Amino acid sequence: MIDYHVHIGKIFYGRKPLTLKKLIQTMDEKGIEKAIILPIENPEETHWYNTTDNILKLSKKYKDRLIPFCNVDPRRGLNNENEKFIKNLIEEYVKKGAKGFGEILANLPFNDRRMKNIYKICGEFCLSIVFHLGGIPGQSTIGLTDEIGLPYIEEVLNEFQNTIFVAHGPGWWAEISGDVTPEQREIYPKGKIEKEGKVQYLLSNYPNIYADLSAGSAYNALTRDHEYGIEFLNRFYNKLLFATDYLYPEQKLPIIEYIKNVKISDEKKRKIMSENAKKLLKLE
Ligand SMILES: [Zn+2]
Repeated sequence: MIDYHVHIGKIFYGRKPLTLKKLIQTMDEKGIEKAIILPIENPEETHWYNTTDNILKLSKKYKDRLIPFCNVDPRRGLNNENEKFIKNLIEEYVKKGAKGFGEILANLPFNDRRMKNIYKICGEFCLSIVFHLGGIPGQSTIGLTDEIGLPYIEEVLNEFQNTIFVAHGPGWWAEISGDVTPEQREIYPKGKIEKEGKVQYLLSNYPNIYADLSAGSAYNALTRDHEYGIEFLNRFYNKLLFATDYLYPEQKLPIIEYIKNVKISDEKKRKIMSENAKKLLKLE
């Protein structure tokens, strides 16, 4: 199994940090062969940063187990088309071993000009982008924002067809239902999926968007309507990536048992658990 979404280190005030040792121990216990380590460079979600340089350095200790991504806050410097330093930074990170970009937690509209500059650069370097989608613009929320129906994401998928996006977060998963309300974009909505939402539409129609199954938000989306969750996996197994968002030692990770036990074919399960990730990371 490849976990597409993990954080390590001292990032939350009042919580014990997830150490490298504990991460590797948990991976061994759960049968997870490799994990993607996502640096935190945006100030919004966590209480401390964990910089790209640090992640690149730490992941060297377990080269065959940990896959580092890089991250740059889109608000650094001017970050416009003419400002080359973000491109130079990302290029340097790639040379040092970064295999993707994210997690983006910046509280900006998804189609913000500074974000678009990053999407373009990541496309040029073939880096998949893990992003956290929160509420609608103007709401008190963390992560990128979009209106109901995700028009900004669709605009970006059309504009940056060479860039691969990996969606995550409550704002994304609430849109699995066509009946989603602005308030539900911030929570884990319950109840049956009566009408399909923008998640299914975007995964069906755009080859450049995937979704990771990490955190309470994805687990809730798959289990709020158990039968529909299985149908969803059966339809979108080519676009889904097993992931946990493991970020503190005592965290419960129900997605691991869910994906191991869910009744779908072994072939589809393998795609979700590792093969889709290998394809995006060009591991084979
Ligand atoms: Zn995360």
